[in-house]
Amino acid sequence: MATASQERPGAATAAPRIDPGTVERRTLEIGRELFARVGGASGPWRRSWWENRFMDWTLDDPEVRAQLFRFIDVLPALHSPESTRRHLAEYLDEADDRAPWWLRTAVAWSPPGTDRERWLAASARWAAETMAHKFIAGATPDEALQTVLKLRARRLAFTADLLGEAVISEAEADVYQQTCLALIQGLAEPVAAQPEDPLIDRDQHGPIPRVNLSLKLTSLTPHFDPIHPERSIEEVAARLRPILRTARDLGAYVHVDMEQYTYRALTFELFKRVLAEADFRDWSDVGIVVQTYQPDAEDELRDLLQWVETRGAPITVRLVKGAYWDSEVLTARGLGWPEPVYLQKWRSDAAYERCARFLMEHHDKLRPAIASHNIRSLAHAIAAAEAIDLPKGAFELQTLHGMGDAIQDALVGLGFRTRVYTPYGAMLPGMAYLVRRLLENTSNNSFLKVSAAAGAPIDELLRNPEETGAMLTRSRPQAPAPSPDSSSTSSDLPPLPPFRNEPISDFAKAENRQAMAEALRKVEAQLGQTHSLLINGEYVETPGHWIDSHDPSHSSRLLGRVAAAKAEHADAALTAALAAADSWGSVPADERAAILVRAAAILRDRRFELAAWEVFECAKPWREADADVCEAIDFCEFYAREMIRLATPRVRDVPGETNRCEPLPRGVAVVIPPWNFPLAIPCGMTVAPLAAGNTVVLKPAEQSPIIARKLVEILHEAGVPPGALHYLPGWGEEAGQALVNDPRVNVVSFTGSRDVGLLINRQAAETPPGQDHIKKVIAELGGKNAIIVDDDADLDEAVVGVLASAFGYAGQKCSACSRVIVLEGIYDAFLARLVESAKALKIGPAADPETFVGPVISAEARKRILEYKELAPTEGRVLLDVDVSAIADRGFYVGPMIVADVKPTARIAREEIFGPLLSVIKAEDLTEALAIANGVSYALTGGLYSRSPRNITRVRREFLVGNLYINRTITGALVDRQPFGGFKLSGVGAKAGGSDYLHEFLLVRSITENTMRRGFAPEEMEGV
Ligand SMILES: Cc1cc2nc3c(=O)[nH]c(=O)nc-3n(C[C@H](O)[C@H](O)[C@H](O)COP(=O)(O)OP(=O)(O)OC[C@H]3O[C@@H](n4cnc5c(N)ncnc54)[C@H](O)[C@@H]3O)c2cc1C
Repeated sequence: MATASQERPGAATAAPRIDPGTVERRTLEIGRELFARVGGASGPWRRSWWENRFMDWTLDDPEVRAQLFRFIDVLPALHSPESTRRHLAEYLDEADDRAPWWLRTAVAWSPPGTDRERWLAASARWAAETMAHKFIAGATPDEALQTVLKLRARRLAFTADLLGEAVISEAEADVYQQTCLALIQGLAEPVAAQPEDPLIDRDQHGPIPRVNLSLKLTSLTPHFDPIHPERSIEEVAARLRPILRTARDLGAYVHVDMEQYTYRALTFELFKRVLAEADFRDWSDVGIVVQTYQPDAEDELRDLLQWVETRGAPITVRLVKGAYWDSEVLTARGLGWPEPVYLQKWRSDAAYERCARFLMEHHDKLRPAIASHNIRSLAHAIAAAEAIDLPKGAFELQTLHGMGDAIQDALVGLGFRTRVYTPYGAMLPGMAYLVRRLLENTSNNSFLKVSAAAGAPIDELLRNPEETGAMLTRSRPQAPAPSPDSSSTSSDLPPLPPFRNEPISDFAKAENRQAMAEALRKVEAQLGQTHSLLINGEYVETPGHWIDSHDPSHSSRLLGRVAAAKAEHADAALTAALAAADSWGSVPADERAAILVRAAAILRDRRFELAAWEVFECAKPWREADADVCEAIDFCEFYAREMIRLATPRVRDVPGETNRCEPLPRGVAVVIPPWNFPLAIPCGMTVAPLAAGNTVVLKPAEQSPIIARKLVEILHEAGVPPGALHYLPGWGEEAGQALVNDPRVNVVSFTGSRDVGLLINRQAAETPPGQDHIKKVIAELGGKNAIIVDDDADLDEAVVGVLASAFGYAGQKCSACSRVIVLEGIYDAFLARLVESAKALKIGPAADPETFVGPVISAEARKRILEYKELAPTEGRVLLDVDVSAIADRGFYVGPMIVADVKPTARIAREEIFGPLLSVIKAEDLTEALAIANGVSYALTGGLYSRSPRNITRVRREFLVGNLYINRTITGALVDRQPFGGFKLSGVGAKAGGSDYLHEFLLVRSITENTMRRGFAPEEMEGV
């Protein structure tokens, strides 16, 4: 085994430099040699040749590929021939006539309930398992050993990798750790007993470990989250150390795999911290992965080198391009973040070569493990090693099990130590891995796919990636700049770019975490101030009449005192609002829009400060607070563009007659928002009527008046005139009532509880003497939202999605899930994982970045939720009731509760609770599940987890809610992308953040002019 002392990494000697130019000729020679060996081994007499052809024939069409991958993905969850056949038929239907004819015929010839159906299901399973076995080396330690021995017989070393489901509970993290330990222990003795093969068991210094384990750090805790790096490191390190100690004691090697970008910085930090500890700092049988699709891979290598120099003992670096390219690109684009990876393949390839040279230059400290199936990449690394006369044992080459078998043999034939990454695990946990491999084998960008194509020209495959890049850059036309929003008007103001959602903060970035922590400190220093009303630009005190705003996480902490308006203040605000209505309404729409865009810019500049206020005043955890600020920005930007669009008159001229429709503001709007999205909802509800030219009196919720005050200040700063917007905090029964009942009010916009909403609707319907119009009411009320979990659902996703929807922000969202309706076939399995995973949720103060479930908003809310919790055992089986007694006296904490076997008619299954209580209801089939889901008086949000295209179509049609989400969480609607709002008793009015919303605040006038005079219409005579 190589140790640090044997290595004596020559710290004093300068590393040799490898010139890429001189390496190029040898790269091509080695590449041709490898191709010759691989080509000679490939042909119809080898199984791999047929597998490649099969992949080509079946999976070349992207649509067919997508559908068949989906089928493979769901297959382990299907337990009957009927369900297997049905899913296959459904997926093939999706691919239509592009699916292979023989597959369609096989399905058509296997009607339900027949022997042929059983045969079809068994064949499908056999085919998928055969494919899985190509990439997955076995399910048991014994199978693992057999595979290892077979590899050794081919003179190949191995690294064992444990496949696992997403780890979402402590119990699952324990199992992963124990299985790693068992694998090392189980393999150590039998592998040691094998005769030594110097090619794979020695390097240039002596024996090296024969047992080699690759592991994923995210599998060692359910809380691997870069938002709280220290806690993640602590939890993972506690499970990692025993694995490292056992490996060291048994002479095994441990390699840390690299996963998605979001985990990367934390993975490096964790690796470096633990391996610098006294127990491990002189141990060199460890390594980590560097991905060259990341543009800063070279910086990472330099950083690792520096760290190794301080630590003393070398490590191995496995160089890869990266396994998550598709998901990195899709995730970033979905979030509006810059893609964290190169977007052109040649760049990843070129970076790979630069990094390979760097590793060879520093091989004594960073031992190179060149992991690729790309012959050009491998050849370049080998040529670089040759250029500095490195012995073959000083580095190794690595490939994946089931991929490039011919390459493995060719490398062994040339005398290189070659290690095969051999994953272990059953088919179900291995699904994500299997699909990644299939994607890799069928992607048009993959070297393996391209080189397997008949007649692929070798010179092209061996082309220097820099050269490919230069060719592409020369031939690619410049992308046109995005055109401005077509809805912009012809005013002097510059047109606005198209709307895009404000990206949430990426808390994997240290600078964002620091900015948030700093904002929390700053805001904490500003607590305890008093805030007056703001009427017509003037501050108005209400002596002795205050609302005290408290921090729900630390209820004794007073955040500030806010003036509470009385009826006389409402009167003054409405007088001023009415007086300003004409002047604000006649400001051109694009100027009003420009003010909103300016407000968005201020919100953006102050995003962390505002999020910090949300943390204190409403106990919003970091991510929720940040997303709320983004949504506020979106409302400003979106409604600004919408108003410009709507302001363009609709013209329908006919000969002799002009016709146009023009919007008109309604007048004075009263806005009464809730506290649970303390910036976004007040902002959206306020800027929509303002954009439409109405004046606004804003009465914020009693629980969040300070944040609302910040919003009003920002809107005034952006240019909303003092008369157009008034800040009127107060009690609902006092200021709220006075505002709603006043005859000068044209629009009442309310979001909140059902009872108050219905009351407002009744009151607004009155037309007291002196009121010459009918008030318009827009009301967003509650929900009793359900998620249906189909019996083929992906449990990894369903469990995480249900928990996030039910317990995110302690269940205090009108969109939150409070009922989960689970099909019988999956009920027990779902419940078991749900409850285990819920136990791992972190409960605590909102300012702590680790917190997932914070306190509820107030003592009153807690009391109400606790009453439901007391009722729960009489209405179902309480499976989880998290004990929060240790922090209960600090704030308004309520432990999440999961109640199973709840009847659809139970109170906890019908009444809105607005807290962390989840009812689980069993349904016999989808028909019953839909009946239960629709059987309440609300219709706000709903969800479905299913992998059946037919069931998804049915639920789309029959689940009657305002916002339906399939295979994702049911909270977190985005402006424009998911306009939000429900029906039945969930509310009345257009959807917030949608294209109809501004109509609620507008009247439309149709103006017709007869332009004909005595049979003569001037414009019609032109050109006659
Ligand atoms: C032994 C071994 C262990 C591995 N461990 C890990 C690991 O821990 N973590 C990890 O992330 N990866 C790992 N990989 C890498 C990964 O699984 C893929 O096998 C590898 O990226 C494929 O690269 P290639 O050089 O073999 O093939 P090539 O076909 O030359 O390259 C394909 C790769 O290029 C990149 N790419 C594709 N399209 C584009 C594009 N448009 N723009 C930019 N880049 C693009 C992607 O990374 C893609 O995987 C490992 C690979 C091996 C062999």
